[in-house]
Amino acid sequence: MTEPTPILNYIDNTWLQSESTEMLDVTNPATGEVLTTVPLSPDEEVHQAATAAVSAFDEWRRTPPVHRVQYLFKLKNLLEENIDDIAQTITLECGKTLAESKGEMRRAIENVEVACGIPTLMQGTNLEDIATGIDEFMIRQPVGVCAVIAPFNFPGMITFWFLPYAIACGNTYIVKPSEKVPLTMQKIFHLLEQTGLPKGVVNLINGGQETVNAILEHPAISAISFVGSTATAKSIYAKAAAHGKRVQCQGGAKNPLIILPDADPQFTVNATADSAFGCAGQRCLAASLAFAVGGAQNWFPNAISDVATDRVVGNGLDEHVEMGPVITPESQKRIEGTIQTGIEAGARVLVDGRYPSISDCENGNFIRPTVLSNIDPQGEIAKTEIFGPVLGLIHVKTIDEAIELINSGNYGNMACLFTRSGAAARKFRYEAQIGNIGINIGVAAPMAFFPFSGWKDSFFGDLHGQSWDAVDFFTQKKVIVERWN
Ligand code: NAD
Repeated sequence: MTEPTPILNYIDNTWLQSESTEMLDVTNPATGEVLTTVPLSPDEEVHQAATAAVSAFDEWRRTPPVHRVQYLFKLKNLLEENIDDIAQTITLECGKTLAESKGEMRRAIENVEVACGIPTLMQGTNLEDIATGIDEFMIRQPVGVCAVIAPFNFPGMITFWFLPYAIACGNTYIVKPSEKVPLTMQKIFHLLEQTGLPKGVVNLINGGQETVNAILEHPAISAISFVGSTATAKSIYAKAAAHGKRVQCQGGAKNPLIILPDADPQFTVNATADSAFGCAGQRCLAASLAFAVGGAQNWFPNAISDVATDRVVGNGLDEHVEMGPVITPESQKRIEGTIQTGIEAGARVLVDGRYPSISDCENGNFIRPTVLSNIDPQGEIAKTEIFGPVLGLIHVKTIDEAIELINSGNYGNMACLFTRSGAAARKFRYEAQIGNIGINIGVAAPMAFFPFSGWKDSFFGDLHGQSWDAVDFFTQKKVIVERWN
């Protein structure tokens, strides 16, 4: 048996073993094998990371943006060279397929590329002669020490919605990965180390809830980016704001699709399956509900059930596998329980994915794709985030009925429409109270050069991750009025 990789913190360009005696197992969700243990770093270590980031800040903010982005160019190349190795680690600890892990890292790299444009993105504005002989201009300056608190489902990508922009804008940074998947950031920080970034510019601290609390309470940390479940997002938003921090919190989701009768059946079904069952449904942009409108009911339920049944489920390290496990045995049990509740409330089971037998993965956390129809629009299956490979179907008569039901929900992360009608598409994108819209797209993930939107209970704050929103979040504006007589 190989020695497990120790999970270390990275503070002031030094790899450090946490002093914590509290450790959690990190488990391969496909096999149940314990891969390593992760320390729950105490307050003093958060303080150490914050102190390193504070010490690095002054010199880093004075480093010209054109020089700062040179480290990001190096990082992009290192990520490209190591993408297969990082993807293996993501699959090992998170369970998704190798193709999904690689896809996640492509999105991470895309954000590094966009942040390389910071010398342009960070420019201010000016107006001469606002009064005779007086000029006024606005410049952007970094905020200070910033931190990200990340979820388990994209161990590589999500940090990159924030970190490249933060450091390119002249901030220094602290990353707190999910304690369920800490291995990927170990790899990525080894690459950050190879870029030669000055001491203290990027720091890594491992831990759970207590570590997060220490970050939120630390007076030297000025801005927090959080991605995770809605309940945690809400509480972190309130707590970070109460400590006077700038904060953006991306929360959970319940993403619906509308299938109009004129949609291309084969294309729609394949896109729906990729959305609902990709990453085992553990994507904040996973389709979880499908509204078949009018005649779409004649073909959609049977067709999606066939595709769900055919999905190849197993260990994501096997290249033929199309869907991996869910993250923990607790998640598996919760999802199985939610399916049962739905059935007891009257849902019809078209495909039941519970309790599968997966060869060579007897101890994995597997649920096969599941399809339930006759969902109660006000019931648990329709309203709560399941975060597993479960698709609920609702038959409605009109697109208006579907939009009304969508808008009555608490979440606002993503909604998609499948149709051949431009007029229907426009109506939908205009009326849906949702932050990310897909038209004939199953996973409407914004590219890095657009903000990752999200409304209602899917987002707390006003500036989103990625793109120009990230530049606004990671800079503060200074307005100068100037007269030289
Ligand atoms: P989570 O909320 O359990 O954990 C997220 C992070 O918060 C982790 O780093 C964890 O250590 C920390 N944390 C957990 N509970 C905490 C508490 N009580 N106090 C302080 N910190 C705490 O989320 P998860 O299970 O890791 O991730 C899945 C969730 O993330 C889903 O709800 C999914 O929709 C959401 N998500 C949203 C987006 C988005 O863009 N909106 C993207 C990815 C995931």
